Amino acid sequence: MTRNSQGRPTNRSLASHDCKKGKTRWSKDKRHRGGKGIRTNQSREGTKPEVDAAGHIVYRMTTGKRKQTLCFFMKNKQRVKFVLDPQNMAMVCPAWLDIRHKARSGNVQIKNVCLDDPEAEFAIRLLLDISHGNKETRENLKSATARELWYVSEIYNWLGRPRFLRTPAMEFYRSRCLRRSNVPFISPETIARGIQNLISQAKGLRMVENWLLLGVVADRFGLSNVRKDVENAIVLSCRGDGSSIMDRARRVCTPGEWESLQSLGFRDERLWLDRGERINRIFDTLRLLIEQVINFEAGILPNESLFNIWSENNIAPCGECRPLPMNTLIRALMAERLWPLSAKSYQGSVNDLLEALEVAGRSMGIHEFADSCNPYTHFLGNRILYSTGEVHA
Ligand SMILES: [Zn+2]
Repeated sequence: MTRNSQGRPTNRSLASHDCKKGKTRWSKDKRHRGGKGIRTNQSREGTKPEVDAAGHIVYRMTTGKRKQTLCFFMKNKQRVKFVLDPQNMAMVCPAWLDIRHKARSGNVQIKNVCLDDPEAEFAIRLLLDISHGNKETRENLKSATARELWYVSEIYNWLGRPRFLRTPAMEFYRSRCLRRSNVPFISPETIARGIQNLISQAKGLRMVENWLLLGVVADRFGLSNVRKDVENAIVLSCRGDGSSIMDRARRVCTPGEWESLQSLGFRDERLWLDRGERINRIFDTLRLLIEQVINFEAGILPNESLFNIWSENNIAPCGECRPLPMNTLIRALMAERLWPLSAKSYQGSVNDLLEALEVAGRSMGIHEFADSCNPYTHFLGNRILYSTGEVHA
């Protein structure tokens, strides 16, 4: 079981990829609400929960005369209530009138949000706190988990994507006469910082628990670079049989998570076309490398144009290169079932292929800390480029 930043056990793990081993870890931890009593959001900045006479959780965000309570019903019949200032909400959140209408009929539901998740409660409290001008709570975003950030993006949509906070000067205006402040509700930079922190702590995007959800967060807050990185990681997982990490995600996602992941086109054909291009590219370069080794063994030197092709593909031998016996190379490729070379019949993912090539390299005594190099060392040096899809010589 994993724990989030509050030290509470989290629920199911959507996806976490161990880059080094080339394997994806999936777990289905039990949902956990931590039992009775106050159990959420105690250690973080923001409104603290209380327990009312009926044993329900209450967040009082206003002490003014005007109040509107949003009441969420949990599966265990417990309720979580948020006591809000309606005027404040009307001035900041575009969807407030609709939310209030539903709150008065006692039926508040939020699309894709499972209210029993502690992360959902965190996100609702956080965004309602911000709506009430509690700007400091935005700092919590910098230490949020991927699932918490995803819930924040869902709640943000539910509130109508508020853009600015209310300022004291706005007190003089009626709620419908909006005078916007220039203080952003949540800046995309804050969300980007949160994602960056997660990635650096986990030492890589695919090592972050539930990293796929960061794609949704990035999409909602316009962080195109993060979205591109998530999409790239999915391309690396696409296999020849049409499956990818998305299929594994589908098995463990909540219906809400799956709904929002589906909206991003992460199962489009273009991802498999991209996979095909990268696989072809790797096999083409490997073929060039083998020709090079054969030629050198036969004592044939390359002409200028062939040497240029090797250089473009980063496999040209350098002055320090030691010869690589053809037999050794073929044996290592055979052991990884990569010989004879055939990009068309290769069914694995780009990740699988890069992993197999690395294993083949290690079996030939080639690793990144080796003192000497040979043409295969230079070929392996392309791994980062193959995994980002940026080699298109
Ligand atoms: Zn070399």
